[in-house]
Amino acid sequence: MIRTPSPQAARGQDFVVSRRRRELVDRLRKEGIHDAQVLAAMEKVPRHEFVDELLKSRAYENTALPIGSAQTISQPIVVALMTQALLSGQKLKRVLEVGTGSGYQTAVLAELVENLFTVERIKPLTEQARLRLAQRGYRNVHFGYADGMNGWSPYAPYDGIMVTAGAESVPRALTEQLAVGGRMLIPVGPQGRQSLRLIERSTRGLVERDLAAVSFVPLLAGRD
Ligand code: SAH
Repeated sequence: MIRTPSPQAARGQDFVVSRRRRELVDRLRKEGIHDAQVLAAMEKVPRHEFVDELLKSRAYENTALPIGSAQTISQPIVVALMTQALLSGQKLKRVLEVGTGSGYQTAVLAELVENLFTVERIKPLTEQARLRLAQRGYRNVHFGYADGMNGWSPYAPYDGIMVTAGAESVPRALTEQLAVGGRMLIPVGPQGRQSLRLIERSTRGLVERDLAAVSFVPLLAGRD
């Protein structure tokens, strides 16, 4: 027999989950995340709804978790750090995300930017993420099933680009689709030992800076 939780039990669970989310956000603040909008978005988006049933109880640990197809949902501190660095306190109009994955980072960005374009090379992941975001009522997100190494040219240029998989080198198409004044965040380096690079386009060209050591699944060419 399948038993659904009583309304009281469901409310109790909601309470526990929002408390755990608040505790996670407190930890992020202590680790140096200072952008109030980013912290508010992460307090709002229910990370446990972006992982499988069996992992829900671990959703508010500050760790990456498997999401199937040999991919992972990024660690909350990395999501917070990348989002804060991308926005830099501004409301961006057009943002490209490469590597939709679970859709968690997508939802956090969708809270904070005007239009979000997100591409993923594994079909079941993009479909699941599309469903999750539709269920949560986001209307400013456009999903693409494509190799994001090529960017997404019909909607370019972007004033923000966030790559959530590790690249061996920065794909040329991505810097080409970055608007003047735009910022890109991309993990670059050998597998599992990348550095998170911030690339800004000024009128005089590209300026690059390394922000932190990170470990991402690889950015792969082609669609799966
Ligand atoms: N932001 C996601 C991270 C998922 S892991 C989350 O928090 O859930 C990185 C994702 O990048 C994987 O889903 C992987 O399939 C995807 N990916 C890797 N190479 C890609 C490419 N060239 N184009 C689009 N997506 C890619």
